[in-house]
Amino acid sequence: FAQAQTELTQRKQAEMTLQLLNTQIEQRQSVEALKDEFIGIVSHELRTPLTSMQGALGLLAMGLMDDEPEQMKQMIEIASNETERLVRLVNNILDLDKLDAESKSLEQEWCDAPSLIQRAIDVMTGSAAAAGVDLVKDCPPSQIWVAPDRIVQTLTNLLGNAIKFSPPNSSVSIEMREIDEPISDRSTRFDSVRPITAPSRQIRFAIKDCGRGIPADKLETIFHRFQQVDSSDSRDKGGTGLGLAICRSIVEQHQGQIWVESDWGKGSTFFFDLPQPIHKNALQQGTV
Ligand code: ADP
Repeated sequence: FAQAQTELTQRKQAEMTLQLLNTQIEQRQSVEALKDEFIGIVSHELRTPLTSMQGALGLLAMGLMDDEPEQMKQMIEIASNETERLVRLVNNILDLDKLDAESKSLEQEWCDAPSLIQRAIDVMTGSAAAAGVDLVKDCPPSQIWVAPDRIVQTLTNLLGNAIKFSPPNSSVSIEMREIDEPISDRSTRFDSVRPITAPSRQIRFAIKDCGRGIPADKLETIFHRFQQVDSSDSRDKGGTGLGLAICRSIVEQHQGQIWVESDWGKGSTFFFDLPQPIHKNALQQGTV
């Protein structure tokens, strides 16, 4: 009887080991599939600007345009713009990789919210002026618990998109408020300011433009890597399709949520909420 018992235990252990191995193999296979998919997309995305550069430089090298300074200039501009896009793309890919790696060690600190927003505005002032877009800031004096460079990066990405898709002579606003709703409630209301004594708090950022908007079926997918509303967005707008994936990664590392609401043809508002610990110098009401 004792021997039968031992055999049964051994068989059970063997079955469990086999099951564990199968699960590990399945997990590894799905990681490999994701990796393959990512490498496939990256290679495709890298090939597009490289092919344009090759074409433009090839035409110049053949000397067919030697007597056509305007056309030569145009080819040089194409090669230069594509080089810039390639650099942005590689930087974004490296950034996403770094974000994945540092996901457990986000360095948060108390920061002055209006100054963080101002930093992002300062970065984008040149492109806004070139596009004829006015940048408007609305943020009460407040201290927020965030990784400052990462939040400036998120705001810069969102402002950059808002400017890129805005018509001239329009404005893009960037707002921050403390809100009174649970983080899962994707309400757009900014009217419920939480008192400082509340047990926990959230802050909400909103970046609003009056641009072309985003169709309803793309509101979720644009936060995925390499997803764009229109394939011409990377060519005409110099995009890489990685900016929003980076924003989402940063916001999720802060345990927050990011989403967009949009009226096709009228404009979009990107929101992100970040949970906050209590702080004695927490948000005071008022605007900047
Ligand atoms: P990209 O580098 O292409 O801008 P993103 O990930 O930042 O990459 O954005 C993905 C896509 O989402 C854009 O290519 C564009 O199609 C759409 N998009 C992002 N922001 C806006 C906006 N403010 N208005 C309209 N479309 C937008």
